[in-house]
Amino acid sequence: MRKVKKSKPLVVCNVCGMFSNERQDINHRCTRAVYGRRCSGSFKSSLGMSWDECLSCSTTGTLGSETCVECAGWGWRLVG
Ligand SMILES: [Zn+2]
Ligand SMILES: [Zn+2]
Repeated sequence: MRKVKKSKPLVVCNVCGMFSNERQDINHRCTRAVYGRRCSGSFKSSLGMSWDECLSCSTTGTLGSETCVECAGWGWRLVG
């Protein structure tokens, strides 16, 4: 199977850093629940943010048949 580089996540939570590729999530409340409590953040467009390609998986999000743990399968990590 040919490995394809992932494109950057479109949307990022400004509190927990959760990624999403749903453009409709922009400016909506984050959906992640941490320890049973809803995250208080909201999703922001990832445009203008600084991204690093994940070196562990070469931006593919997978290592062999496993999901890359470094980037949680996204292939990208926020700088900082
Ligand atoms: Zn969040
Ligand atoms: Zn990775």
